Amino acid sequence: MAENLPVVVIGMGRFGSALALELARRGTEVLAIDNRPKIVQALSGRLTHVITADATDIDALRELGVEEFYRAVVAIGGDLEASILTTSLLAELEVEDIWAKAVTHQHKRILERIGASHIVLPEHDMGERVAHLVSGRMLDYIEVDEDFALIKTRPPKEIVGIPLGETRLRSKYGVTVVSVKSVDEPFTYATADTVLQYGDVILVAGPIAKVERLADRT
Ligand code: ADP
Repeated sequence: MAENLPVVVIGMGRFGSALALELARRGTEVLAIDNRPKIVQALSGRLTHVITADATDIDALRELGVEEFYRAVVAIGGDLEASILTTSLLAELEVEDIWAKAVTHQHKRILERIGASHIVLPEHDMGERVAHLVSGRMLDYIEVDEDFALIKTRPPKEIVGIPLGETRLRSKYGVTVVSVKSVDEPFTYATADTVLQYGDVILVAGPIAKVERLADRT
């Protein structure tokens, strides 16, 4: 199963170490690499394979058997040169599925050009996400595509007390209530017969501007 293949994670900063530890917790074999011996030592009790090496050195990567891996994550952010060089070496070693962390959009474009298959911009994306939480009435916000989001919010007054099927939420707002959670209850799927109460928490899916408009009415 491609999902559970071993992963090389390079750079054990906050992002890389959290990623490596979570992969290991989920049962994925991880080879973690960092060039700072102190960091490696600190993680050695928590990760099975964590090694001190300079990832910008192709011989070091070869020695660690990195070319045998299908998947790698370059979690070096601050040192642009190291991030770019490491990513290009992984491409040279024909690692098929390269994930890389970028700190700016320019950095992202370079990583894409040199062979990274997936780029994440954690700080930028988190900033955008928190903006939605700070400025709106949302309890949570996940952008699932360029123009589609899933939000957690309270039901707007106008749809409380009426079965969802009669609220005309879809035609009026262009959004769908996916799930509902009443106080002290778990989340359940919403149906046309679901009647929302004040105090409920709902998950709503739809185009970004539309879910924002709905959340502003709560
Ligand atoms: P974060 O913001 O997630 O903490 P950083 O960019 O600060 O990310 O951390 C990157 C990590 O990558 C650091 O622990 C650093 O030691 C490591 N690193 C930097 N350059 C190399 C390299 N050439 N080879 C291996 N690890 C590196």
